[in-house]
Amino acid sequence: MQSSPEAVLKNAFGYDSFRPLQREVIENVLARQDSLAIMPTGGGKSLCYQIPALLFNGLTVVVSPLIALMKDQVEQLRAAGVPALFLNSSLSPEAYSENMASIRNGQAKLLYVAPETLLSPRILSLLAEVQVDCLTIDEAHCISEWGHDFRPEYRQLADVRRRWPEAVCLALTATATPRVRADISSSLGLTAANEFVASFNRENLFIEVAPKRDGESQLARFLERFKEQSGIVYCFSRRQVDELNAYLAQLGCSVRPYHAGLDDTVRSRNQEDFIRDNVQIMVATIAFGMGINKPNVRFVVHYDLPKSIEGYYQEIGRSGRDGLPAHCLLLYSYGDAAKLKYFINQKEGDERKAAVQQLDAIVRYAEDRRNCRRKPLLAYFGEQFSSENCGNCDNCNAEAPVLEDITIPAQKFLSCVFRVGERFGAAHVADVLLGSKNEKVLRFGHEQLSTYGIGKELSQKQWLFLARQLAQLGFLNQDAEHRALSLTETARAALKNRAKFFGQLHEAEPSARSDSGKRQEIEHDQTLFALLRAKRKELADADGVPPYVIFSDRTLIEMAAYYPQSRQSLLGISGVGQVKLEKFGGAFLGIIIPYCQENALAEKIREPERRKAAKKAESGLGSRTTLIGEAYNNGGSLESLMERHQIKAGTILDYVTKYALAGNPLRQREDLLPLTAAPAEQQAALAAFEELGAEYLKPVFEKLDGRVSYEDLRILRLRCLAR
Ligand code: ADP
Ligand code: ZN
Repeated sequence: MQSSPEAVLKNAFGYDSFRPLQREVIENVLARQDSLAIMPTGGGKSLCYQIPALLFNGLTVVVSPLIALMKDQVEQLRAAGVPALFLNSSLSPEAYSENMASIRNGQAKLLYVAPETLLSPRILSLLAEVQVDCLTIDEAHCISEWGHDFRPEYRQLADVRRRWPEAVCLALTATATPRVRADISSSLGLTAANEFVASFNRENLFIEVAPKRDGESQLARFLERFKEQSGIVYCFSRRQVDELNAYLAQLGCSVRPYHAGLDDTVRSRNQEDFIRDNVQIMVATIAFGMGINKPNVRFVVHYDLPKSIEGYYQEIGRSGRDGLPAHCLLLYSYGDAAKLKYFINQKEGDERKAAVQQLDAIVRYAEDRRNCRRKPLLAYFGEQFSSENCGNCDNCNAEAPVLEDITIPAQKFLSCVFRVGERFGAAHVADVLLGSKNEKVLRFGHEQLSTYGIGKELSQKQWLFLARQLAQLGFLNQDAEHRALSLTETARAALKNRAKFFGQLHEAEPSARSDSGKRQEIEHDQTLFALLRAKRKELADADGVPPYVIFSDRTLIEMAAYYPQSRQSLLGISGVGQVKLEKFGGAFLGIIIPYCQENALAEKIREPERRKAAKKAESGLGSRTTLIGEAYNNGGSLESLMERHQIKAGTILDYVTKYALAGNPLRQREDLLPLTAAPAEQQAALAAFEELGAEYLKPVFEKLDGRVSYEDLRILRLRCLAR
């Protein structure tokens, strides 16, 4: 028997450190306290019961709703040398009785079953013969009628549990609504004290919304950046899936379709091809994804607008489970929202009302070009995201737009909204301003209005863009039902006081926005990585398992970064445990050693995650802050840092500031950017920082009456901190 959770983590799974809350949940389970763990997809729920299972003497029973998931988990565990098995209808009678025998004789540590199997007399009597130490209920939201995936058999698990009073119970889910949570706890009799809720923020996902213009070619350009990588493209309808699949196939992409209209065999073959890396891209309806454990999905594109924030977050959550960067792109057009609206209008009563609200929330999210994307997404899960700049979404990474004085057009637009009686949408208001003679304008007599035809200096598109900005700035309300615009109190006051308005008249091209699609946490040798991948695929095909069962991408990337050339150093790589070292170590060393010889490469020292994590915890800083702070001290140029992290200069300086404010020594550097302020002003700014503190720029900016720009202040602040 293994001794501690840490030892099992390293020896069996090859990992250095726990993800947030894993250790807490594991310790609680080992202390035989019934627990509920709520973690996002990719949060690492499986280890929460797999590690205790290896530390308990008896059996851990895992209830799971999907056969595909059980098979996948068992394959992964077996590759790591963990005696796990499942019992379900996909097994031959011989395999079934063989598995029953391994349970009876105590060989198996983990048993995966569907609830209906567990409830069958045959299995219950088998389990009466052995010691059950832990009952794990995966996808525990299935127990709740309030969840999106209610399964009546889950309700009976409470009874089963009473059969093993000694066994500890662990329920796991990624569904976070309080109602479902409470329902799980009460059905299973869990106490609130043992609830663990992890943050739902998935830091490694880059989140972007782009206006959909020519959808197909936008998608094609996006995919160019993900050659040889896996991803999912979600569409609204089956027809759209088929069309897009045909379009991408004709471009030469490695792509397959997936939707409920396809023949069962075709559908499961396509899914299998995706999981096994035989094909890179799945174009699918939302029917695809449940039961997919593939950790190396590098992008998720929403080609059409999702129906709700919840669904959207779940779908993008299928990318980047391995913790490596992944890119989530939503292509948004108002037309798509209108299309969804049309479908919603065919529903009735409460159902319709709920759907309208959900659509409204996602439209508001998609149209927001100012605020961090993570804020509304996490707010949906009851989580407040406090950081001002996540550094990993389009809005946080965008160059601050240059704002112009738009007072005159804003006044024209707002008065026209008022003149049409606050009963019309933006397009109609724009038509009136442009002096259109269309049927609707004439029918309502709007050609008589004083605002008719006074806005010919802007195009229809510009007026609509202006309307969106005015709404975001809180000057306009939009009625959810009919999209009619009305003035807010703020707007009335602003018009009355002749306040100035600032905004943009030209919408930026989405392609001008920066993104992080190519960012990698670890710099590695691409050629070696490709060789290792090919070896992995060969081994996986020989064993009839998906490649990630052999090793994750993360593991191969580390091999291609540190060039381990002995069994000992290979064991230091994340994801290499004892059994995998025995099974696959030789094959991979057989690639790495000759490659390093040919290219005269030496091993590099790899600092274990645990030490890095400890350092990070000590300083309380994110890895990126430390990375950028250290690079700055080592003399890295702003350009190279901007290039590497795909963020603008100001954000780099903010990171360096954060690094220094956490107490790290900072080097004095005069070589950053030329300052525009006169020397006397610079001195005044330094003095103001001394007096007011370096944490915020605004007080200093105001004290100097705006004579020194924010750009200069950011640099001067670093001078001050480096003293
Ligand atoms: P969930 O079930 O919460 O979606 P999984 O248990 O499938 O998440 O874990 C997601 C991925 O993260 C898996 O590939 C798993 O091996 C990996 N993982 C889990 N815990 C750790 C850890 N502590 N260190 C490194 N990788 C981990
Ligand atoms: Zn952000």
